[in-house]
Amino acid sequence: MRIGHGYDVHRFAEDRKLILGGVEINYELGLLGHSDADVLTHAVMDAILGACALGDIGLHFPDTDPAYKGASSIELLRRVRRLMEEQGYMLSNLDVTVLCERPKLRSYIDSMRACLSEALETDMGRISIKATTEEGLGFTGEGLGIAVHAVCLLDERR
Ligand code: MG
Repeated sequence: MRIGHGYDVHRFAEDRKLILGGVEINYELGLLGHSDADVLTHAVMDAILGACALGDIGLHFPDTDPAYKGASSIELLRRVRRLMEEQGYMLSNLDVTVLCERPKLRSYIDSMRACLSEALETDMGRISIKATTEEGLGFTGEGLGIAVHAVCLLDERR
């Protein structure tokens, strides 16, 4: 077995869509970034790459490369899944914690789980997503951005 952890932060900005876990969230602000700024999917990719000791998404999909401008992070996640499989691993489970004061994400959680499980070609039962606030403290509490932690466990493929 291999364990991996990913962490990412993106800042809120005007005139941007808010995409989390491949799902468009209805909110007045979006997240700033070179790609679609899907901070949740970025943390997931870093967790899987970390478990494989394959570096991070900055190494595989550099934000200096115009090819990744506006890129769909879910498409990049499919590529990370293939890299994981080439290393001989499969996802055992994934647990994600989103730190976000607003918007409320509860009604989107299962759509995000479905989207990640489809990209990872696994069951929704292996994908957990939780959202919490930080009680008004720090940059997520002040509503300046969103932070995400992701932890995954990989098994050797049989
Ligand atoms: Mg990112």
